[in-house]
Amino acid sequence: MADILYTYKNQIYANITNKCDCSCQFCIRSHKDSVGEAENLWFKSEPTLEEIKKAMDEFDFTGYEELVFCGYGEPTCALENLLAGAAYAKEKYGIKIRLNTNGLANLYHKRNIVPELAEVIDSVSISLNAPTAEKYQEVTRPQFENAFPAMLEFASLAQETFSHTQLSIVDVLPEDEIKTCQRIADERGIYLKIRKFS
Ligand code: SF4
Repeated sequence: MADILYTYKNQIYANITNKCDCSCQFCIRSHKDSVGEAENLWFKSEPTLEEIKKAMDEFDFTGYEELVFCGYGEPTCALENLLAGAAYAKEKYGIKIRLNTNGLANLYHKRNIVPELAEVIDSVSISLNAPTAEKYQEVTRPQFENAFPAMLEFASLAQETFSHTQLSIVDVLPEDEIKTCQRIADERGIYLKIRKFS
């Protein structure tokens, strides 16, 4: 069984699925089997809710304030376990919940799932990745044709709903693309996190 909870740079992460509706060029899954203190993040079979709860019960949350759903897959592709797992961690361990996502869940589920997420999740970080639809398709290789506008719409809905929403890019983008990404975020009143490439 792969690691469900793992730590990296003093932060706890929940890896609840290997499913994903993108195939990003830069995805860490294509060159490493784990991150941080995890040994292996590939599941032989997708974890059940009971297995996710058991991993939480075996983890010592002392000193941690936030659990981040972000693993070797897109957490919203395992929506039921994401919602139930987040509710369990919040209720039992009084911990805040963050979701790191590609922002394509409303396309994947063919409905607006933001209200469902809002019941258990405190903050959301959405991968912007690119400044235009064309670049986005090229870099993230999503299952959908209209992924870029759908991701931005998801981000705006999230911004209206969660106490903290951010878009994120990595600092390897050229300066002009970073500026365009900043403008996209500013136009929507959303904080842009520029992560260092590591
Ligand atoms: S959305 Fe995340 S998990 Fe999916 S391919 Fe891209 S980087 Fe990898």
